[in-house]
Amino acid sequence: MPMSSSYRERLFPVLKEIEANFGTPFHIYDEKGIRQTGMRLNQVFAELPGFREYFAVKALPNPRIMQIMQALGFGFDCSSSAELTLARQIGAGGDDLMFTSNNTSSADFEAAQRNGGCLLNLDDLSLVPKVPVMPETICFRYNPGPRRSGNSIIGNPVEAKYGVAHHQLVEAYRSAMKRGARRFGLHTMLASNELNYTYMVQTVQMLLDVAAWIGGELGIRFDFINMGGGLGIPYRPEDHPFDLEAMAKEIIRLFSDFNSRYGYAPRLYMESGRYMTGPHGVLVVQAINRKEIYRQYIGVDACMSALMRPAMYGAYHHIEVLNKPAGATTQVVDVVGSLCENNDKFAIQRELPRIEEGDLLIIQDTGAHGHAMGFNYNGKLRPQELLLRENGTVELIRRAESEADYLATLRFEPRQITPKRT
Ligand SMILES: *Cc1c(COP(=O)(O)O)cnc(C)c1O
Repeated sequence: MPMSSSYRERLFPVLKEIEANFGTPFHIYDEKGIRQTGMRLNQVFAELPGFREYFAVKALPNPRIMQIMQALGFGFDCSSSAELTLARQIGAGGDDLMFTSNNTSSADFEAAQRNGGCLLNLDDLSLVPKVPVMPETICFRYNPGPRRSGNSIIGNPVEAKYGVAHHQLVEAYRSAMKRGARRFGLHTMLASNELNYTYMVQTVQMLLDVAAWIGGELGIRFDFINMGGGLGIPYRPEDHPFDLEAMAKEIIRLFSDFNSRYGYAPRLYMESGRYMTGPHGVLVVQAINRKEIYRQYIGVDACMSALMRPAMYGAYHHIEVLNKPAGATTQVVDVVGSLCENNDKFAIQRELPRIEEGDLLIIQDTGAHGHAMGFNYNGKLRPQELLLRENGTVELIRRAESEADYLATLRFEPRQITPKRT
């Protein structure tokens, strides 16, 4: 199921009033749903001491959402200097921050080690000598290569640019130890939108095996393993939801086996993005044009600058029309934006209740990798973001982009050089 019935029942009756006050389009997120998912995650891993989710900031980089995550006890997984700044501005720091970059620049390292630093997750052996000050705790991202097949979305690890190769891993930890690292983490991220929980259990098994192997080679213990994100959500009505409880049960058993064999267990970290917020956001748009040529088109007042996934990945996002229940007369339509790209479509040949100009469409599961991915191609601007609070209040948490924002980088000090040919 896409959007939960609880969110639908709280949102739909007030949507017209929200529209009247804020206008369309907007993403609106559900505080109650986000909290419930977060509490459920903490609950299923309650038996594992030190379990911690590091919310993947890139999924929904909004400080108000991040404060909800913070209240749940979560840290933040950041992969750029700007994401670190966002997290630090709400008071996160040190071990609340995991910095998982790749192709890391010296400016990235500088940003990571500023303001009391953070947990540093290195993407390659060659980066060890480039870390300005080797922190006491170091983590490496592991790429298992041919030892593991990636899931269908993220692809084959052999072709992935991320992580330290299997045969370089001992050397990576050894060289970090030579530079003074004393505590260790192990990270991987192999899947995206994976609905089969068994894949995640196998990933944890793999990490524990590697931790045991490296531990034996170097005589070290691991403080934590980080299983990455990638837990999937059911975008299509026929998709089965991810079985979080079953996954946690099997992972807890793996940790207890590890504990009996090695006399200790690392902590478990996770860095989920999509699973935490994806189902708890929708993009609300208004139909502004109906066009009937070879196909029927519904033109809406947002475009792919608000939601890239359908155009980029051919992703399905479920759509409902406000006040037009199933059973109404339907029509097969393409739901389109106004960008000059033919892939600017929220839905292709979708059977929907007959839509008239002025109708509100609720494009679902936009709470992760939605607004955040938007771009300004064709001068298209990103929409506002709203939060439906647990107490029923609706709060603006990001204003819409303006033309002034779009033009801002064109205001600068004039500067030119005349290069001399040699
Ligand atoms: C994108 C990303 C995540 C989050 O992925 P989801 O599919 O949203 O759970 C976690 N870790 C890293 C390193 C990522 O790049």
